[in-house]
Amino acid sequence: MNTKIWLSSPHMGTNEFKNVKEAFDTNWIAPLGPHVDGFERDLADFLGEGVHVAALSSGTAALHLALIMLGVKAGDEVICQSMTFSASANPIAYQGAIPVFVDSEERTWNMSPDLLELAIQDRMRKGKKPKAIIVVHLYGMPAEMDRIMAIADRFEIPVVEDAAEALGSTYKGRKLGTFGAMSLLSFNGNKIITTSGGGALVSNNEAYIKQARFLATQARDAAPHYQHAQIGYNYRMSNVCAAIGRGQMDVLADRIMQRRANYDFYQAALSAIRGIRFAEEADENYYSNRWLSTVLVDDSQGISREAIRLALEQENIESRPLWKPMHLQPVFEGTPFYGDGTSERLFDKGLCLPSGSNMTDEERERVACCMKACFAQ
Ligand SMILES: *Cc1c(COP(=O)(O)O)cnc(C)c1O
Repeated sequence: MNTKIWLSSPHMGTNEFKNVKEAFDTNWIAPLGPHVDGFERDLADFLGEGVHVAALSSGTAALHLALIMLGVKAGDEVICQSMTFSASANPIAYQGAIPVFVDSEERTWNMSPDLLELAIQDRMRKGKKPKAIIVVHLYGMPAEMDRIMAIADRFEIPVVEDAAEALGSTYKGRKLGTFGAMSLLSFNGNKIITTSGGGALVSNNEAYIKQARFLATQARDAAPHYQHAQIGYNYRMSNVCAAIGRGQMDVLADRIMQRRANYDFYQAALSAIRGIRFAEEADENYYSNRWLSTVLVDDSQGISREAIRLALEQENIESRPLWKPMHLQPVFEGTPFYGDGTSERLFDKGLCLPSGSNMTDEERERVACCMKACFAQ
């Protein structure tokens, strides 16, 4: 049997283990410590734009805190991109609020500005102004931020950017994660860099970041005893995980180049195949970290997305359909949705190809070979 090729596996550099050992040697084995502070600084320096960063236990936790600080409460409505991972929407439900899902556009696969505007107007007509807009940069591809921010500003609704998949991507030269009132990053095991599990909240507004650190450590007031005036959470990042994160920051630029090289390889190897279409950067304003390389399969050419996925699986190659849109998920049945069928169409045709930054040339060849064979029959 061929060795397994994973969709996206962790890829350690040389400093991670050294940093973890240092955490052990100094006995900083806690959800605070010098590596947590250092990792926050590294991320803020990387993102630029004067942002502040709170390192947290997950991207989901970061989004939850963002919604809490924006005052999202039971019965409120929050707009969320439908095509995404469930973690973009779950924190809305944690607050007892109602997600209002908005469809994607073909150009970026992310939130359609036209449908966003329609959704806001219709919700306001129905009597409720949405409390926040959660926009996602899927697979590292920037959403159309100029138009989305303009609409959000016009209606005075704060934007939370889900940049969990998009660390290192840029829109008009500016890093994703620096546009929203707040943004979240994820360092889960399959992301472009990982701390095994972890996340961060990013904002230009330092007050949000200070409040996030406070809420993430059980909302403990300043007193010698344990004193609490509000409900807190246990959402801080461990110093051991942050030690890994600091090592990963040393190699982030390489990881982006390696992921982008995967995409370029697949495109060169497969773009001659009629029936396969790539998710291109719409124009020079869009720069994707290519977290995952994705294709659309046109089954009028004789083979379906699912047949290709199964053929790859036969060869011990992991691939995966695109995120199933939230408005199609049983758990969100009956929630409002504004769409034109785009995300459903993408979901039917889309496939994520193995995209690890640690893939060898030989492994990429194996993937391309197997896909070409599917169309040769
Ligand atoms: C991974 C991911 C998250 C959640 O991050 P965790 O750190 O796993 O909680 C949120 N949104 C998107 C789009 C993601 O891919």
